[in-house]
Amino acid sequence: MSYTQGSPNATIPGAHREQTLARADAPFPFSHSENLPAAAAAAAAAAAADYDVSAVHPYFAALGDVLSGELVAAGDADYDRSRLAWNLSIDQRPAAVVFAAGAADVVAVLRFAAANGLRVAPQGGGHNAGPLGDLERTILLRTIRMNQVSFDRSTATVRAEAGALWGDVNAVLAGTGYAALAGSSPDVGVVGYTLSGGYSWLSRSLGLAVSSVTAIEVVTGDGVLRRADATENAELFWALRGGGGNHGIVIALEFKAYPMPDVYAGAMLFPLARAAEVLAGYERWTRDLDERVTSCVRLLRLPPLPELPDFLRGQSFVAVDGAVAADSETAQKLLSPLEILDPVVNLFAPMAPTELGTIHMDPPTPTPAAGGGVMIDDLPVEALERILELAGPEAQTSLLAVDIRHLGGAIGRPAVGGGAVDRFTGRFLAFGVGIAPTPEAHAQVSADVQRLVAALRPWASARQYANFVEDSAPASTFHTPDVLPRLLAVQEQFDPAGLIKANHPLS
Ligand SMILES: Cc1cc2nc3c(=O)[nH]c(=O)nc-3n(C[C@H](O)[C@H](O)[C@H](O)COP(=O)(O)OP(=O)(O)OC[C@H]3O[C@@H](n4cnc5c(N)ncnc54)[C@H](O)[C@@H]3O)c2cc1C
Repeated sequence: MSYTQGSPNATIPGAHREQTLARADAPFPFSHSENLPAAAAAAAAAAAADYDVSAVHPYFAALGDVLSGELVAAGDADYDRSRLAWNLSIDQRPAAVVFAAGAADVVAVLRFAAANGLRVAPQGGGHNAGPLGDLERTILLRTIRMNQVSFDRSTATVRAEAGALWGDVNAVLAGTGYAALAGSSPDVGVVGYTLSGGYSWLSRSLGLAVSSVTAIEVVTGDGVLRRADATENAELFWALRGGGGNHGIVIALEFKAYPMPDVYAGAMLFPLARAAEVLAGYERWTRDLDERVTSCVRLLRLPPLPELPDFLRGQSFVAVDGAVAADSETAQKLLSPLEILDPVVNLFAPMAPTELGTIHMDPPTPTPAAGGGVMIDDLPVEALERILELAGPEAQTSLLAVDIRHLGGAIGRPAVGGGAVDRFTGRFLAFGVGIAPTPEAHAQVSADVQRLVAALRPWASARQYANFVEDSAPASTFHTPDVLPRLLAVQEQFDPAGLIKANHPLS
């Protein structure tokens, strides 16, 4: 049986064969090149300092006419609303925004960009737009209208289109007895999250989300719609799984769902004043912890938001939240070393795995924020002291949350047939975030985030998780010396003109 949600008009008949879609041949000004690689010359000309991108603007209407989706150019009435990322404090100003309706639109946009010296930046949930930088010569390709999700129980496979959010996937899987490797926020985009790793509340037992991907439909930078899996375009499949969307614009992902009864999940809250004791107890607990437990310890300063319950509104806590993929009795035993620390509230309870998006209290809608993180190999006493100095009970900080997510288990092991990123070697993933409604607040929160990251640098892992880095960073931050040249070789083959602009580029 199949379960379906979202608009049906974005399915891709024939996506299993390599093809350049006919619609993409529509004539555009300057569309003299028959194939996209030949457009490298146009891209090179556009890179010249005196290239005037405004000369292209009159032709956006022609592109808009051939799209099934919508095009909003700089200067249009809807431009300011259309260019918003999820993080409302990011001021992205692309040459135009396209809300694509399907693969044919994506091909048309790539062809137009190639012929006119522009680049194309795909964006789904828009949660990590910060590192994209200057978009003046870029078309921002929003995929949020391509949000169909289906589940094939006979193969336990989910197919999610490029703009689907984890909440869309959870809605389709609810009541099926299956779960996928969703992140803590239902609002996060499935594709952006998965292409760089994907840390789920089920990851310590089931691995990173990227290693559960079984096939990818993608329009590569050369304008061709392809399917990539273990046997077809296998090298591209390897690169896409970890390469962060540098090789093409994903149209849909297929990935495994797992049979999963209720999990035992929730949070324990302790007074922030007891942060030193709870952090130390948490670190002790995580040594040799059963892989069925995936958790996070957090220093939280909650804002006085009306939608929060009374006991949380405006309060500060140390929280341990997470999920145990086991029956209640086993889970309670596994959680007992935390229970002994005597929380003021224990909200752990049996829960459907598709409800796990509620436990971390991530903001449910677009928010102005600044954040950043660092993967660390250890959490010794000195590191805990640094964290307490910066975010403990005595600290003056703009950070709403400092999270330390526990890694290890299946996250740390190579995945069979895995891609360019198939594991994280660190022991913890730290992340600091604060609300930033004004430029001044953004500067303050960013400075506090940088202080946190710098303080933990002595324990930083050799490679970092791209999705937890919200500033520009060299590709060597994320990829090992053996992986990076291989990713670049695949990019040279499938996006020779360098049309795709990813938030974390390979060079
Ligand atoms: C509140 C919050 C909670 C989070 N929780 C978790 C969590 O639990 N676990 C975790 O691992 N991460 C988590 N993250 C981090 C999250 O995984 C990253 O921010 C991720 O990049 C979000 O994907 P997106 O599609 O929403 O973002 P986007 O900004 O849309 O995408 C990020 C990048 O992915 C690429 N991309 C997106 N769509 C496509 C496409 N169709 N084709 C090719 N490339 C594409 C692009 O390079 C794009 O710049 C969280 C982030 C936030 C803000």
